[in-house]
Formats: sequence, structure tokens, C-alpha cells
Amino acid sequence: MTTNWAGNVDFSATRIARPASVAELQETVAANDRVRAFGTTHSFNDIADTTGVMVTVADLPSEVDVHPDRRTATVPAGVPFARVAAALQAQGLALSNLGSLPHISVAGAVATGTHGSGDRNPILSAQVSAVEYVRADGELATVRRGEDAFNGSVVALGALGIATRLELDVRETFDLRQDLFLDADWEPVLADFDAITSGTYSTSLFIQGWASAAIDQVLWKSTVDSGEPALPAGVRARRSLARAVSPVAAASDDTVTLQAGVPGPWLERLPHFRHDAAPSNAGDELQSEYFIDRSLAPRVLEALRREADRIDPALLVSEIRTMAADDLWLSGAYRRDTVGVHFTWKPDTTAVEGALAAVERVLADADARPHWGKLVGPAFADRLPRFPRGRAFRELAEYADPKGKFRNAFLDRVLGA
Ligand SMILES: Cc1cc2nc3c(=O)[nH]c(=O)nc-3n(C[C@H](O)[C@H](O)[C@H](O)COP(=O)(O)OP(=O)(O)OC[C@H]3O[C@@H](n4cnc5c(N)ncnc54)[C@H](O)[C@@H]3O)c2cc1C
Repeated sequence: MTTNWAGNVDFSATRIARPASVAELQETVAANDRVRAFGTTHSFNDIADTTGVMVTVADLPSEVDVHPDRRTATVPAGVPFARVAAALQAQGLALSNLGSLPHISVAGAVATGTHGSGDRNPILSAQVSAVEYVRADGELATVRRGEDAFNGSVVALGALGIATRLELDVRETFDLRQDLFLDADWEPVLADFDAITSGTYSTSLFIQGWASAAIDQVLWKSTVDSGEPALPAGVRARRSLARAVSPVAAASDDTVTLQAGVPGPWLERLPHFRHDAAPSNAGDELQSEYFIDRSLAPRVLEALRREADRIDPALLVSEIRTMAADDLWLSGAYRRDTVGVHFTWKPDTTAVEGALAAVERVLADADARPHWGKLVGPAFADRLPRFPRGRAFRELAEYADPKGKFRNAFLDRVLGA
């Protein structure tokens, strides 16, 4: 492995370590000056890179241990969500949300504040109740919800240590159905934005061109006890009857989880993409995303439509999702109910730079926070000042890692060299 999943970042590590035990991981961390964990390398920037040793925890023991008294499960940090989800489902349990793809590692997703959608669903990192990790001195430690600095230690960018296991909140398994509505006129959607996103468990709006008069897809994921899902009166759209339609126009529909209102277990409906297929545009893409206060969404989306001629030449698809507020310092939804404005770009760096300049002109005015695992333009390059507890996180990282063992170029840019 010399690049990330999308192939736009060349890793500069001297060596890749695959410890098979926690003791071996501790030795690796203690013995090297520069160490960095990587997950499944689905981030689009150099956040996982290092000039030292890149370490994966994918080969550590992979049991999932359920704690019925705490309604939690301890899961291995390095395995994909798909594996954890299958193990929980086998015991009649579930996570309350997943991202668009189940291929990503649990620790990698948690470290960058990865999220799904739903007005009442916080980001995936907010499901973490404890993190077990190897510190910079090689010692094994655990930080639990409620303890000092826990809220800074979950979306932690790999800066505090290497997670070995995570304890996640679990619930009873549940079924969902996906209903896809096509060509929804913009104006009624913006006028009734709250009703659209609160009307169901999870909503995604997909926009294949900001110049279009209609939103290409409104995807609703609904619990099956809530009756036949119907968009609010006044929102005109066609109900899709297809078994599945990809949000990326050029991509195969076979990669997408079953839609058409067919009920199925949470792990086969919450992700947009099937665990056994290449997600999205199969890596022939770049991605950016920004988080705004949800009350600003209609105004910001209108402003982005006015930039369509600068955005659309680089765009494969945009996705609009919602998240409930949380208390994690580096979360995009820290202390505010949030709307995520996402862009899947064509792999054309020059076109993307032009589009990002237009996007960031709009989003800088909206107090937006960037996604830690995706690309930004110059206006958001420093990232950390966009997060109200950014300074507290910098102090925590300096305290946890005084010699900069887990530092890399990304963290030097964000936290200061
Ligand atoms: C097709 C596609 C779809 C996506 N969909 C979504 C989505 O729906 N929602 C969303 O929010 N994001 C989404 N993303 C972004 C993705 O979720 C994040 O980039 C996520 O961090 C990827 O996880 P990973 O395991 O690949 O992490 P990597 O990219 O490998 O690493 C990311 C960070 O995690 C750290 N890390 C990894 N393992 C550990 C560990 N054991 N201990 C400590 N730190 C660790 C690394 O050091 C690095 O800082 C998507 C990406 C792709 C490619």
C-alpha cells in the first residue's frame, strides 16, 4: 500500500507495521520516534501519513464483547464497520447509525468525526463510550465518557495515541426501508427543509448539478413501523420504483443497498453502498465536506446554487445530511444541530481547486467547519480555528505527545509545528 484509497495521496512512510498483539503494538510505539495509525485509508488528505512507521491495528484480536448491563459493546479498532455490524446483528443488536460506506475502519472513522444522517442521530464518534489506546510512551490506557478530556479524545485525528479497542453504545436490532424520490423542485424543499429532514430516520439530498431546477434524489431511510413514507405536501417529486439507484450518475446501481421501500436490517439499509462492492465512484474521485448550523441550511444552499457555474464543472455529486449536536471538541456538530454539505468531485485537481474557492467563499461566511478526512481549499487550510474547542485540543495533544511521536505534516499544519 503506497497510496490512500482514492490514490491522490502518496504515503511517505519508511515502513508499515502490522502488530498481531497489543504487546507488539506497544513495543512498536515505544521503539520509534515517528508513528502513525492508519485504518482503511479512505481519507482524502494526508491525515494518515507519516515519514516514520505507519501502523495498522487490523491484525489485533477481533472479538466483539457485548456488555448488556451498560448497553455497550467493545469492538476492535481496526476492522471495518461491516464486520462489527454483522457481529452485533448476530446477537440481536445494532448501532444507531452508520456512514455511507461500511468499508471504513471503526477507529479511522471515529478519529475524523465520520457521520451518517438523521436529525436525532449524532455523528458516529458520539456512539463511543470508551477508547482503549497505546500512548506515546507505549503504555496502554483507557479513557471513558465522563472522564476529564474524554470529549477531546474521541475525534482525535490520531494525535493522542493508537486505539486498540473502542466501546460503542448499542441498541436492539431494527429494520429500515429506503425510499427514493427523484427530481424534487428546489424551492419547496428549501421552504420545508425541517419537515423533509425530520420526517424520517435519516435523510440525504443528492445534487448532481447545482444549476439544475430540481434536487436529483431525496433518499429517506425510515423505520418500518412508521407507515408508507410520503414527502410533505407541496414537495413535488417522483417516487423511484427501481431496486437501487446510485447517487453517482456514472456509477453502477449494483453497488447500492436495496431501496424501493423494501424493509431490511439496519446494517443493509443505513449505508448507501453495499459492503461487498466498490463504493461511490470506486475511488475515481475526490471529496470535501463542511458542517454548518442547520438553521442556516436553506440560505447556504441558495448561495451555493448561485455558484453553480463554478462548482458543477468539478462535481460528481453533492450530498446534504443532518446530524444532532454533540459534545466532542473536534466534531463537526459540536454543540449545534448540523447540516453537512458534501461534494464528491471528479479527480481533476485544477477543476476542484476552482470549485473549492467558490464553495469556501460561501461557507466561510456561514461559520462552517471542515470534515477532517476530506479536502479543503486555502480558506479552510488551518482547520482548527473553525472548532470552538480547537485550542483545548491542541493543549491536550501537546500534553499527550510532548515529543511529537504521532505528529505528521497534516497535524503540523493544523496544530502548529
Ligand atoms: C467513498 C467514501 C465515502 C465516505 N462516506 C463518508 C460518510 O458517509 N460520512 C463521513 O463523515 N465520511 C465519509 N467518508 C470519509 C471517511 O469516513 C473518513 O475519511 C474516515 O476517516 C475513513 O476511515 P479510515 O479507516 O479509512 O481512516 P484513515 O483514512 O486510514 O485514517 C484517518 C485518521 O484516523 C486515524 N486512525 C486510524 N486508525 C487509528 C487507530 N487505530 N487509532 C488512532 N487513530 C487512528 C489516522 O491516524 C488518521 O488520522 C467517506 C470516504 C469515502 C472514500
